[in-house]
Amino acid sequence: MGVPISQMWTVASYVIGKRLRGVKRYPLVLMLEPLFRCNLACAGCGKIQYPADVLRRNLTPEQCFKAVDECGVPMVSIPGGEPLLHPQIGEIVAGLVARKKYVYLCTNAILLEKHIDQFKPSKYLSFSIHIDGPKAEHDFAVCREGVYDVAVSAIKAAVAKGFRVTTNTTVYNNADPDAMREMFDSMMGLGVEGMMISPGYQYEKAPLQELFLHRNQTTNLFKRIIGNAKRNWKFNLSPLFLEFLKGHWDLECTPWGMPAYNLFGWQRPCYLLNEGYCETFQELLDTTDWSKYGRASGNPKCADCMVHCGYEATAVADTFGSVKAFSRVVQLTLFGAGREKLPPDDSAAGRAGQDQDSTSDSERIRKVELPVLSS
Ligand code: SF4
Ligand code: SF4
Repeated sequence: MGVPISQMWTVASYVIGKRLRGVKRYPLVLMLEPLFRCNLACAGCGKIQYPADVLRRNLTPEQCFKAVDECGVPMVSIPGGEPLLHPQIGEIVAGLVARKKYVYLCTNAILLEKHIDQFKPSKYLSFSIHIDGPKAEHDFAVCREGVYDVAVSAIKAAVAKGFRVTTNTTVYNNADPDAMREMFDSMMGLGVEGMMISPGYQYEKAPLQELFLHRNQTTNLFKRIIGNAKRNWKFNLSPLFLEFLKGHWDLECTPWGMPAYNLFGWQRPCYLLNEGYCETFQELLDTTDWSKYGRASGNPKCADCMVHCGYEATAVADTFGSVKAFSRVVQLTLFGAGREKLPPDDSAAGRAGQDQDSTSDSERIRKVELPVLSS
């Protein structure tokens, strides 16, 4: 099953409608974080370092619905934390589906099979499963052995029950392009609808700072990962964003395109940076000095950021904003991106820096002792 035509139509008509009405800043996807706690502690995560009293708290379903109704987005992504730890997540998702919002429930999948009967298959609901590589690489990225196998089992179970299933992958500077491509093959073989992939953001609070990519490293690495893509790989991202990741298309961040709402309110200015909170979405739009953000601003916090939450909404808006962009998207959709001349593998140096011996990455990762997943 691919992305439903109705979803594509809903998004296209929403964006075109905003353009025709001359609306300059509008949200496309709400990043709704109903809690921050998680049952994993991934090395690159910037979301789980809150004090215990914050980690214990949840947004209520009513708070979630109010945020969605207030900003009027057609799509809602529910990251976290781990949303399946929320005691009312079934009620939240059902309420959003009833509002005809396209919902992406992002999960590490550890609890998915246990809780799957809280949900009903719907064209409005996709499980977005966190997968950062093949088995050894994924378990290493999430700092727990056995999680990849649990995620694969959950994907199979969800696909078998008729749910839409996608994956989401965060790429750090130790990524092995061959391993990533192997993982794409595996995921498509499991029947996922599409794959979302994005570089990680250099969260100040993330434990392993050396994992993060600079901009030229990002484009070089993504050329090697998604360049010369196989025809059967399906990415749940707009073609212009994929070109941007490879350094072939320029985009500027539109942080209001994927606003974040969580326990503290509307996060300023984006899902990644935390420079205060607003009580309403309108207040966020009206009182944020947007010129301070994005690469062109010169803000060092934005200099290396190429994360989907800053640029995917830009890519979608640009698709309908010029003949040149629209023609490029049509060309990419019909004929693919063409042959990619691959740059040297910068990430190999990063990986070698972590381990001076001559073992392969998979062997190196397998040698690291990880805590084992207990049920
Ligand atoms: S699964 Fe997601 S929310 Fe949980 S620790 Fe990992 S990155 Fe953070
Ligand atoms: S460039 Fe990245 S960090 Fe800066 S505002 Fe945009 S999304 Fe946020």
